[in-house]
Amino acid sequence: DRLVVAVDGPSGSGKSSVSREAARRLGAAYLDTGAMYRAVTLACLDAGLDLTDQDAVAAFIPGSEVTVSTDPAQPQVVRIAGREVTEAIREPFVSERVSAVATNPRAREILVGLQRDVIASHRRIVAEGRDITTVVAPDADARVLLTASEEARLRRRGLQLGGTQSEESLAAQVTGRDRKDSALVNFTTAADGVVTLDSSDLDFEQTIQALLDIVAA
Ligand code: C5P
Repeated sequence: DRLVVAVDGPSGSGKSSVSREAARRLGAAYLDTGAMYRAVTLACLDAGLDLTDQDAVAAFIPGSEVTVSTDPAQPQVVRIAGREVTEAIREPFVSERVSAVATNPRAREILVGLQRDVIASHRRIVAEGRDITTVVAPDADARVLLTASEEARLRRRGLQLGGTQSEESLAAQVTGRDRKDSALVNFTTAADGVVTLDSSDLDFEQTIQALLDIVAA
């Protein structure tokens, strides 16, 4: 009983926490593809690469040894060549620069390939990102676009970051990043066959249930 669930959505839609918990309940692995983009971005910055040099960034990725853990029951661990960068990839310094990698077509191609390898290596998996329903796993058993109002997304990201960041910084990270990201990937409207789940007025448990209902349908 192989199962692939694809979840896309903008930042702050709750897709990471919702996908992780749904994976746990489904006895499935969990892949956070955003963490891969973040880790690759940090690896490039650490290596002193100019992120606007698209060829250099793309050439660097295959040897960068970025790994993201996939057990939904354990805290996430992200590594670059064995070095743990789990927290570093969530810093505004990375969040504000990741779009440079996300809008690099060759870099995307390589990351999509790595993500497909991870998905293929698990019998059951929930994979989450911006282009999972459309590019990475268009043939997934269930494909969901998780959306939420801008207000709800800013509030959630603020809570997630522990209320330590200014509203301005949050807005830059959430709304600003989505605007940059949407230059290359369309994750604001559902593609054909993708079910839209609007979580603006749902709490966490209700959102999980709605997602599990879609998977069971
Ligand atoms: O999901 P998260 O907000 O951590 O993703 C970080 C960034 O990675 C996004 O802002 C986007 O630029 C990029 N990304 C992407 N495609 C994905 C997942 C993430 O372009 N499938």
